[in-house]
Amino acid sequence: MQEKRRACVIGGGFGGLTTAALLARSGWKVTLVEKNAELGGRARAWHEKGFVFDMGPSWYLMPEVFEQFFAYFGEKRENFYALNRLDPYYRVFWDDGSVDITPDIEKTRATFATFEPNGDEKLTRYMAGAKYKYDIAMKEFLYRDYKNVFQFLNKRILLEGTKMNIFSGLDSFVRRYFTSNRAAQILEYAMVFLGSSPKNAPALYSIMSHVDLDLGVFFPQGGMTSVVSGLSRLAESLGVEIRTSSPVTRLAVTGGRVDAVETENDTIPCDLAVVNADYAFAESRLLPPEYRTYSEKYWNKRTWAPSMFILYLGLSKKLAKTVHHNLYFSTPWDDHFDTIFKNPAWPENPSYYVSCASYDDSTVAPEGHENVFFLVPVAPGLEDTDEIREKYAEKILDHFERLTGETIRDSIIIRRIYSHRDFAEDYNAFKGSALGLAHTLNQTAVFRPGHRSKRVGNLYYSGQYTHPGVGVPMTFIASQVVSNLIDKDQR
Ligand SMILES: Cc1cc2nc3c(=O)[nH]c(=O)nc-3n(C[C@H](O)[C@H](O)[C@H](O)COP(=O)(O)OP(=O)(O)OC[C@H]3O[C@@H](n4cnc5c(N)ncnc54)[C@H](O)[C@@H]3O)c2cc1C
Repeated sequence: MQEKRRACVIGGGFGGLTTAALLARSGWKVTLVEKNAELGGRARAWHEKGFVFDMGPSWYLMPEVFEQFFAYFGEKRENFYALNRLDPYYRVFWDDGSVDITPDIEKTRATFATFEPNGDEKLTRYMAGAKYKYDIAMKEFLYRDYKNVFQFLNKRILLEGTKMNIFSGLDSFVRRYFTSNRAAQILEYAMVFLGSSPKNAPALYSIMSHVDLDLGVFFPQGGMTSVVSGLSRLAESLGVEIRTSSPVTRLAVTGGRVDAVETENDTIPCDLAVVNADYAFAESRLLPPEYRTYSEKYWNKRTWAPSMFILYLGLSKKLAKTVHHNLYFSTPWDDHFDTIFKNPAWPENPSYYVSCASYDDSTVAPEGHENVFFLVPVAPGLEDTDEIREKYAEKILDHFERLTGETIRDSIIIRRIYSHRDFAEDYNAFKGSALGLAHTLNQTAVFRPGHRSKRVGNLYYSGQYTHPGVGVPMTFIASQVVSNLIDKDQR
């Protein structure tokens, strides 16, 4: 019997786990090597005193992408983890009030009608456009690799281009429909999920409003970490060998091909390598200069997505004013975006997100306790000392206690801050960016770093740096794109 060809996947984030499973299904003998002791990458969990914190993603969006992924293996998602639709999807706070966004779109329309005259009808029209774009994006745009710009601008995309609003900014597009800041903020906040600001994200990404308001916000029982363990079980059932605590130190290239992956522990011979680790790090640190597709200058000139200031708290009581997902929007919020993309600084009046997973999942905190984290998007590369972190944590807690009229400082039993230097140390993230490359127009689709190395014949890239980009569902799609490419290229 012919021996299986050997593939090595570098990194055990969602991009690495899904790629490893797909390659194993295509007949490769796969070894996955992960730097950290746990799998999941940015979606790792932190277990402490009965609390389970999702350290990164907490919004489970686009459930169809996950269902399709498992179906591809002849499996059902529910055999790996349970999923609940949240109700409400999320609560939005402003300094002078709050609204709940729920699965009932009629209620959401009524809420928009309180924001401005005919807000309900405007929302209906806006959402019809968002759905239209989403359907086209799913069919024509997301599950594809682009060799060149002409392929990207194919007939359908060009034909539909005007309706897709690829080339205008999201904020000006939203303002064509709505005058109120509240409506605009609800329709634009998700750009932070893509590492962008509403002003520099193409209006194509109004599809995100179809994603949250129509398709809905879900939560896997036990947290996102349940998805990670589900995927690692799937991968192992297909024969993938997973090695954690194995930082890769070098890709050994001979004659234009990677023939081994060197880790701190050993050398793994391979016929194919797929990098899921941060692209900029892998290119600049793991490959000799002559084999790099992109220069240092290229990376320095990119628009980098924010880092995140995260404050994880285990509380000895339940909170009364919050639901599972809570967003606070400062008004106006442009100053905050400017501190991320224009004049890097810690924001004075930040908008922020508060996760409270124990609101409807009793498995993530001891009984009667609350699992909470605060998340503030901040510019990558900021000075990140203990002193700055502590001051910032106090600032956010001050604001939150004022906003909700509820004290939480008195019930903190666990506390951890995570920011720039942790992203850099734990994931080799450029300037401590949480999300890698922002989704600006010139960093979308064909303009993102390629799935295939241009210099090394058997080297590929998956994960959030590559098309379609940032976000858990996007990394699943990227892995499908890259594994299809490998199937074609490496027959
Ligand atoms: C705080 C935060 C909140 C987020 N919230 C959401 C959300 O609610 N919903 C959503 O859909 N998305 C969210 N995202 C985005 C989403 O988490 C990411 O887009 C996605 O998880 C990225 O997966 P990845 O596999 O590309 O990268 P990663 O998860 O970073 O995986 C890369 C892996 O490579 C490993 N690695 C690095 N260097 C080496 C090396 N030398 N050797 C071996 N391994 C190495 C890393 O340790 C890591 O495990 C969030 C991200 C963050 C950071």
